Amino acid sequence: MIEQLYQQVILDHYRQPRGRGHLPDPKFMHDGANPLCGDEVVIEFQVDGEVITNIRFSGQGCSISQASASMMAEALTGKTMDEAREFIRQVYALLKGDVEPDLETMGDISALAGVRKFPVRIKCASLAWHVLEDALKGLQATAQSK
Ligand code: ZN
Repeated sequence: MIEQLYQQVILDHYRQPRGRGHLPDPKFMHDGANPLCGDEVVIEFQVDGEVITNIRFSGQGCSISQASASMMAEALTGKTMDEAREFIRQVYALLKGDVEPDLETMGDISALAGVRKFPVRIKCASLAWHVLEDALKGLQATAQSK
């Protein structure tokens, strides 16, 4: 079942990406690449207090990397930075096989469990999440040094 879901959801997000594009006035911007596959993801976002209010992504690469970025934009918009960090940890655990996919709590993200069978693809699927995680770390460091 996860295989079917995987294909459907990846294709759906790849063809109709949520949050692809640019913000008129991005507050934060961060990028990352997966040279193994040629994937690039750029993330722009805005923050209101602790809440991530707007996420846009751009870039290029395989369907998994771009679909995963779309899922990330959809899943993390409106979350606090702490919630986002926790969510990202869950995604890594899902990709590693440490937690089982759960449609009810994870929605489309569960489909990413389908990449476990293709270890080289895990980097494609995790790229966007790494980029946002890095950006949040940078934010935290700036806040602490003030
Ligand atoms: Zn890729």
